Amino acid sequence: MTQALARKWRPRTFGQMVGQEHVVRALTNALRQNRLHHAYLMTGTRGVGKTTLARVMAKAMNCETGITPEPCGKCSTCVEIDAGRFVDLIELDAASNTQVDQMRELLESALYAPARARFKVYIIDEVHMLSRSAFNAMLKTLEEPPEHVKFILATTDPQKVPVTVLSRCLQFNLKQIPVPQIRRQLSHVLEQEGLASEPGALDLIAHAAHGSMRDGLSLLDQAIAHGAGEVGESSVRAMLGAVDQEYLFGILDAIARDDGVGLMKIADEMQDRSLSFEAALQDLASLLHKVALVQTVPEALAADAADAERLKTLAHRFAPEDLQLYYQIAVQGRADLGVAPDEYAGLTMTLLRMLAFTPNSGAPADTTAPPGGRSSRITPGPDGTKAAAHETAPLHTPAGATSESVQLPRTDAGNLDWAELVGKLKLGGMARMLAQHSHLTRVEGNRVDLCVPEAHRHLLEKPYRDKLQTALEEHFGRRLKVEFALGQPGALTPAELDDRERRQKQREAVEAIDRDPFVRELVEHLDARVVDESVRPIGISRSQQGTGEGQQVTGDRR
Ligand SMILES: [Zn+2]
Repeated sequence: MTQALARKWRPRTFGQMVGQEHVVRALTNALRQNRLHHAYLMTGTRGVGKTTLARVMAKAMNCETGITPEPCGKCSTCVEIDAGRFVDLIELDAASNTQVDQMRELLESALYAPARARFKVYIIDEVHMLSRSAFNAMLKTLEEPPEHVKFILATTDPQKVPVTVLSRCLQFNLKQIPVPQIRRQLSHVLEQEGLASEPGALDLIAHAAHGSMRDGLSLLDQAIAHGAGEVGESSVRAMLGAVDQEYLFGILDAIARDDGVGLMKIADEMQDRSLSFEAALQDLASLLHKVALVQTVPEALAADAADAERLKTLAHRFAPEDLQLYYQIAVQGRADLGVAPDEYAGLTMTLLRMLAFTPNSGAPADTTAPPGGRSSRITPGPDGTKAAAHETAPLHTPAGATSESVQLPRTDAGNLDWAELVGKLKLGGMARMLAQHSHLTRVEGNRVDLCVPEAHRHLLEKPYRDKLQTALEEHFGRRLKVEFALGQPGALTPAELDDRERRQKQREAVEAIDRDPFVRELVEHLDARVVDESVRPIGISRSQQGTGEGQQVTGDRR
């Protein structure tokens, strides 16, 4: 029986780590300068390399060639750590060892010098699962750690680790590994293993891995077994229960033709074949993303990409802002599946919502509605009249719209609390910044006027404006005309209001952190620096608490 790929290809050196460059760089720098801390905390979702990194660290600190960012892998210490039988490396899974007695026993053993190694290394995985008393036992050791002891803690849920423990650890946040990096590694592994694969198959697996290299390799293992030694696209698709692209292209085609009957027919076929609707909506969002990408950056389309021609055709059939909207609807529809009456209803409502938002049909909807009215896509306006599709509030309130938010007040801005509204919008990044730095000056019918201070002119890029518009449309459940102007209309923006209070608290928190002796030690000995923005004020007084909360110390990246 061959070894599982995830185990066989588990990185044994820093250089073999896939992703996590920022963490690797900080750790190797510290090792190169022999600057070791006594406790590390690795955080991140499952399968991103936390314990793998911990073991490499253990080797780097104990390799017989000396403390080194490049452990030799050949000395008996390295070999035994790799084999999982090194006497001075103690690995504990807190998920199965929450008992305080075990913890105490473990920590008592920490007092004794290592049998052979330079350092006794304790790797505690899922450390947030420890009981309160077990944490207290550990804290005693963390407060006065023996010289020869190193702790490497790992957790998927740092929020549950007591502040008192957090503050004594040098924390590293491991990120989810991007799809292209996973794909590249899968391809590399297959090449080394001498196995054939189709590009589409690797795409599917890399996506399904959800940022985890371990999951990616496990799926690859399964795919190899499933395809009897070959990794073919159709076999992987079947294995993952992935939705046949034909259905997805069919859906977009039906939407482009404004064909409600055709759309429902596809949904029914998918239902008959018991396809996963969750996967369908996810894949639909991926497809919309690809089409949008082809529209904006045609070069992004790899020459060998499957379906290149069809993607290009679709890119010509939709307006960019519609793709954005459909994408939002698909993503939200997927999130809402769990609360839909049933999955079929969840899927079809999502598809109908896309159809309802299709702006290109100026014709009254009745002419396109089927006799049975199954996909009737127009509803009476609030005043009972039928409005053109692109102006009416659809029956199915779109993503994110809550019942109390559907009515856009037909008044001036005075009645609408913009700051509160911005808090509710599904916005991220620069688009959120734009919203926060805007003043609402007027709302009339479907028109919304916003004013942005001159100082924030750079936020007025089209993509951010479009995102804000989409979020507003989703929130109110109708198409809007959002106009931006530059100027200074007097009132404070949400950001400005926020800022005044926050700046004061932030200043106090940063000062308190700087006074913390533990942090000072880190800064002096580890090339670490406190990320000021990461310091969040808390309600507890510093003298009671004695330690900082929420500060994040990153390795210097020089
Ligand atoms: Zn070695």
